[in-house]
Amino acid sequence: MLDCAIIGGGPAGLTAGLYATRGGLKRVSLFEMGMPGGQITQSSEIENYPGFFEEGKTGMDMMNTWQEQCFHFGLKHEMKKVDNITKTGEYFTIVLENGTKVEALTVIVCTGSVPKRAGFNGEDEFFGKGVSTCATCDGFFYKGKPVTVLGGGDTALEEALYLSNICSDVYVVHRRETFRAAPPTMERVLKKENIHLVTDSVIEEAYGGMMGLDGVKIKNTKTNEITDMPNTGLFVFVGLNVRNEVLKDEKDEFICKTNASGQVIVDLSMRTSVAGLYAAGDLRIEAPKQVVSAAGDGSIAALQVLSYIQEMD
Ligand SMILES: Cc1cc2nc3c(=O)[nH]c(=O)nc-3n(C[C@H](O)[C@H](O)[C@H](O)COP(=O)(O)OP(=O)(O)OC[C@H]3O[C@@H](n4cnc5c(N)ncnc54)[C@H](O)[C@@H]3O)c2cc1C
Repeated sequence: MLDCAIIGGGPAGLTAGLYATRGGLKRVSLFEMGMPGGQITQSSEIENYPGFFEEGKTGMDMMNTWQEQCFHFGLKHEMKKVDNITKTGEYFTIVLENGTKVEALTVIVCTGSVPKRAGFNGEDEFFGKGVSTCATCDGFFYKGKPVTVLGGGDTALEEALYLSNICSDVYVVHRRETFRAAPPTMERVLKKENIHLVTDSVIEEAYGGMMGLDGVKIKNTKTNEITDMPNTGLFVFVGLNVRNEVLKDEKDEFICKTNASGQVIVDLSMRTSVAGLYAAGDLRIEAPKQVVSAAGDGSIAALQVLSYIQEMD
C-alpha cells in the first residue's frame, strides 16, 4: 500500500513528490507514462521561472535538475500510464495500462492539460520555436514586435489583450466573421488600437528555418488571397484538452467534481470533492498554466496529504 500515488510527472507532480518524501512519507510513487518533466520540456527557452535564467537553457535542462532532486529524496518513478483510479472504502486503487493494480491511501492527480492544435502546415515543426500556446510564457520574446494570434474565443482575445501591452501590433486571425468571446472582452479588444481583427481567415502556413519561425501566411477563405506576415510570433488558442481520463469510471463519469470543460474543481488546498484525492497543476480549475504555479499547487497538495495521513492514524 502506497502512502501517496502521484499521477503525472510534470512540475506539479515532481514538486508534490519532493514535498511528500521530504515530509516523511516512505512509500510515494510517481506514475509518469514518459520521462518526468512534463510539457515544459518542449520549450526551447524559459525566462519566467525565478532562479532559472540562463541564455540558451531549455525547459528540458531545467526539468532534469528537478528529477535529480526528487529522486535523491526517495521519490520512486514508475514509467507507466495510469488508466483509472477508484476509491473503495478508505483506499484508492490505481489501475495501470497493463492491468496491474496498485493501492494507495492518497492520490494526487497532476496529468495537466494540452492545448489543441489547429492543424496548419508548420505548426508541429515550429511548436515551442515561435509557435506558442502561451502569451504569458512567450509574449515578452516579441516585445515591440508584431505578433499573430489564431482563435476567436475568450482565451484568444484575452491573450491578444495581454500581448497588446507588450507587442507593437497584434493580428487576430479568426475563421469566422464574428467572434465568440464575451461582449465585455470584445469591447476591450475593440478599444485597443494595436489589435487588428483579421476575419474569415486561417493560417495557411507557418514557415522558418533552423533558428525557428520566420513568419506566417494567412489565407482569406472568401477571396483565397494570401497575406505574408514576416517576423511575427504566432500564438494559437483553439481549445484545450484536459487530461482527465484517469478520473473517469467505467460508465465514463467523473469520480470527482469537474467544471463544464472537464477541469477538476479543487479548493485552495487542492482538495477535490473526494476525500484523499487531490488535483494540482494545469488540469485544475483556474490554473494559470505556468510552471511556477503548477509547482506551487504540487507543494500544497503534498502538504495536505501529510495532514490527511496523520489524521488517519
Ligand atoms: C512549448 C511550451 C512552452 C512553455 N513555456 C512556459 C514558460 O516559459 N513558462 C511557464 O511558466 N510555463 C510554460 N509552459 C507551460 C508549462 O509547461 C505548464 O504550465 C506546466 O508544465 C504544467 O505542469 P503540470 O505538472 O500541471 O502538467 P504537465 O507539465 O502537462 O505534466 C503532466 C504530465 O502528466 C503525464 N500524464 C498525463 N496523463 C497520464 C497518465 N494517464 N498516466 C501517467 N502520466 C500521465 C504527462 O506525460 C505529463 O508529463 C510552456 C508549455 C509549453 C508546451
